[in-house]
Amino acid sequence: MKIVKAKWLNDADSPVVLMVDDLNNLWFDINRNGHPGLGEDWGFWRDLPGSSFAYLRNNLLNRYPKVKVTFFTVVGNPIICKSKLGKEYKGAINENIKSIEFFRSIQHSNNFEIAFHGLHHGIVRNRDYVHEWSSFSTLEEALGNIEQGQDICKQIFGKRLKGGKYPGYTSNIYSDDSIDKAGFSWWCREWTYRKFINSGNDYSVFEMRSFGDNNVIDFPSTVSPSIIRNNVVLRCGRMILRRHYPSLESHLEALLRNNKVISIQEHSGAIRGDGMRQTPNIVDTMPILQNTFSFLAGKNVWHATCSEIANYHIAFTYTHIKTICVDSFSLTYSGRAERPWLTLVINKKKPIDIISPSGKSNRSSKHHSRDNYSVVNIEVENGLYQIR
Ligand SMILES: [Zn+2]
Repeated sequence: MKIVKAKWLNDADSPVVLMVDDLNNLWFDINRNGHPGLGEDWGFWRDLPGSSFAYLRNNLLNRYPKVKVTFFTVVGNPIICKSKLGKEYKGAINENIKSIEFFRSIQHSNNFEIAFHGLHHGIVRNRDYVHEWSSFSTLEEALGNIEQGQDICKQIFGKRLKGGKYPGYTSNIYSDDSIDKAGFSWWCREWTYRKFINSGNDYSVFEMRSFGDNNVIDFPSTVSPSIIRNNVVLRCGRMILRRHYPSLESHLEALLRNNKVISIQEHSGAIRGDGMRQTPNIVDTMPILQNTFSFLAGKNVWHATCSEIANYHIAFTYTHIKTICVDSFSLTYSGRAERPWLTLVINKKKPIDIISPSGKSNRSSKHHSRDNYSVVNIEVENGLYQIR
């Protein structure tokens, strides 16, 4: 009997997650009219008409209900840019009961999760904007900030957040250590897509890696909806520099072929208080997002949050399977995630059930009779599994 671990849940070619940055308790009322104009809201208006969240739900999530979103949230009072136009409304996510209920409902939804995007996102120092993790001069300072943020999360969500992202993908020598020591299980450290372009389109840069003493998953960011480049001058410049941007569709095809994560980078707000437009943002790139999810609807993908993808990768990496006889195998697991899911591909003629060491039964989710193999999702436990 041959047992192979599938790279992704249910033997999918790739997992897919929409990563929306900066869903914060923040609103830039640029024209000071007291109503959220298109692109002005960054989470302050919760799920009310005119809010960023309602825009995403009405234009994308209602049409593609399988889509899963990880929202990266500044949990304290957000500072996004230095100068400002209009009026700015903001606060910590626990500022009032309505804000608490909104962020809590997202975290407790099956299709969404909240991830850590700093206590403030950054500071203004000597008139310059400095991103949060570049502003710390010691490890202790960085850890102190994370703890203040996690205290807010524990109050609202009942537990600490599992993962997050450096604001502006910016960090310094203390940053990775702070993420490792603070107990996060995954983190978005850099804008991996830029690294991919600079590497001459090497898809191996998108592999899941880990860092730190606790093997924190280094979560890659693999797709930007703004990667479609129609500007002829830009295209020519890149051809001279030999930096080729693939079309979005061919990029998605290649990610699927290489079994890499499809993690789509977005921002909840379009307009910043300094008058700049945030790139990419869900308003300007909505047609591209719709095309992307329409394209993916016909593919063998697994829609998941960043935490679910990280947990699966932990299950895949830290399990060892040994066949004992034709109807049993032993599994040893040494990862940090508690009882993650893992998919096994087993060469059996008929659909099968796998009974876990604690007695849980899982039936084949797919069976390919012509090729004689079954796909079964199991919850990872240490011990002996039976096949029936
Ligand atoms: Zn941000």
